[in-house]
Amino acid sequence: MGGKPAYQREIAEERIRILFDEAENVFDAHPERSDRYVEIARTIAMKFNLSMPDELKERFCPDCYAYWRPGKNVRIRIKNGAKVYTCDECGGVTRRPYQK
Ligand SMILES: [Zn+2]
Repeated sequence: MGGKPAYQREIAEERIRILFDEAENVFDAHPERSDRYVEIARTIAMKFNLSMPDELKERFCPDCYAYWRPGKNVRIRIKNGAKVYTCDECGGVTRRPYQK
């Protein structure tokens, strides 16, 4: 199997988490920078063939890749055992299984 060594993937995942933390920090002042951080994080994930950790998948729109801040640009409802995300940036609707 090819791909990058495990330690490199671990470093990549750490960088992705840092980018999401930064995205959260700058969102109030510069939401467009938050979107940029999401873009960089996605690029790193693709380069290292990583799937986004589940808790990070909930923090951006899979349609327009906007960084999401609940109550600001995404609405979240629980419906039929699923979390339903409605993106205020693009109007896209995403469903994810809801675990308590
Ligand atoms: Zn969107």
